[in-house]
Amino acid sequence: MAKKETGCSFCGRSRDEVGMLIAGVSGHICENCVTQAHSIVKEEDIQVEKNDLVINVLKPAEIKAKLDEYVIGQNDAKKVLSVAVYNHYKRLNQPVSKDDVEIEKSNVILVGRTGTGKTLLAKTIAKMLNVPFCIADATVLTEAGYVGEDVESILSRLLQAADFNVSAAERGIVFVDEIDKIARKSDNPSITRDVSGEGVQQALLKLLEGAVVSVPPQGGRKHPEQKMISIDTKNILFVCGGAFDGVERIIANRVNRQTIGFSSSDEERVDKESLLKYINPTDIKTFGLIPELIGRFPVLTYLEPLDADALRLILTEPKNALVKQYVRLFEIDGIDLKMDKDVLDFIVEKALEFKLGARGLRSICEAILNNAMFDLPSQNETSFRVTLDYARRQFSGSKIAKLRVA
Ligand code: ADP
Repeated sequence: MAKKETGCSFCGRSRDEVGMLIAGVSGHICENCVTQAHSIVKEEDIQVEKNDLVINVLKPAEIKAKLDEYVIGQNDAKKVLSVAVYNHYKRLNQPVSKDDVEIEKSNVILVGRTGTGKTLLAKTIAKMLNVPFCIADATVLTEAGYVGEDVESILSRLLQAADFNVSAAERGIVFVDEIDKIARKSDNPSITRDVSGEGVQQALLKLLEGAVVSVPPQGGRKHPEQKMISIDTKNILFVCGGAFDGVERIIANRVNRQTIGFSSSDEERVDKESLLKYINPTDIKTFGLIPELIGRFPVLTYLEPLDADALRLILTEPKNALVKQYVRLFEIDGIDLKMDKDVLDFIVEKALEFKLGARGLRSICEAILNNAMFDLPSQNETSFRVTLDYARRQFSGSKIAKLRVA
């Protein structure tokens, strides 16, 4: 019986018409057909990626309601931010307009002490909208040619957060922390030319102006042989945060100047405790940000310092509140964790006493629960109650308590 000549079962070409022939269970496929099939699959993938880019634009009130689930207080900041984000993504989803009305980007500056929720707000928004998000620290940025990170490194990070999907990165959110640390030291540029600060501000402008920037995909410094990826920053939303230490004094000076001529009772009406709520762009300029940069941040808002009530709520209320996280950690080991109410008050008290703010809540909880988390998984306990007495003892033996003494 004549043996049947083997060929590609897909295109029908015979063995000597094709290069490589791969055998399957009941047939063969040639090199050409594999390549063709691969490009079809890739096109499908790109299609799916494109569909992924549809951002679910929530209404400002819906955005705020979502933020309320994760962030305690900070109502003014939440409202301002919700509107800014809504407008930003509305602008993105708009087809190119027929008239000449071009909606500008609504980059945001958040002013507030460290640990008051600036990063948390930006991160929560990015998660809610399902857009790539990255955090950059302004203090490590330098202008090109100096030791440190180029501003382009911010975009490399965003690209990595977007899994190297360029179009997704181009609609992402960048949070630049400690923007106040690149302020120029004097309001008068002719007196001290503070290269480190002002140079970085100038470099940042490039990203904010909506330019197409060449980015080394893996970060690091640019070098000639490196393959670059172009990223259009036009639709990237920049949110900057900073404590702007001492800005209250600048606000007070301005407010006082403005209230001269009014009766003293009017002056008293200015709430001295929370001067931040009167902040405006001129205060940021006096602090040392250059006007060109301020001009790129049309939205400016503030975060209040967190008081005991806010810290107490932060422990238990947000969707992934700290106490909820510890309860879950113990639950995984089959242990029912209970923390007495006065323990929670104690944690807040210590956070305030050690001036650790919301960031300190976690380290204090760790200090109190560390021994229990070490011992209990090897024992057969099914419940664990943290009393005030236990908490005090654990805390006083911890590193944080000793730090204070030192
Ligand atoms: P920063 O203002 O310095 O950016 P973060 O947003 O990083 O502060 O806050 C640090 C941590 O403190 C957060 O991870 C969060 O757990 C907690 N936190 C701070 N502020 C709030 C808040 N208003 N509501 C809920 N948690 C908060």
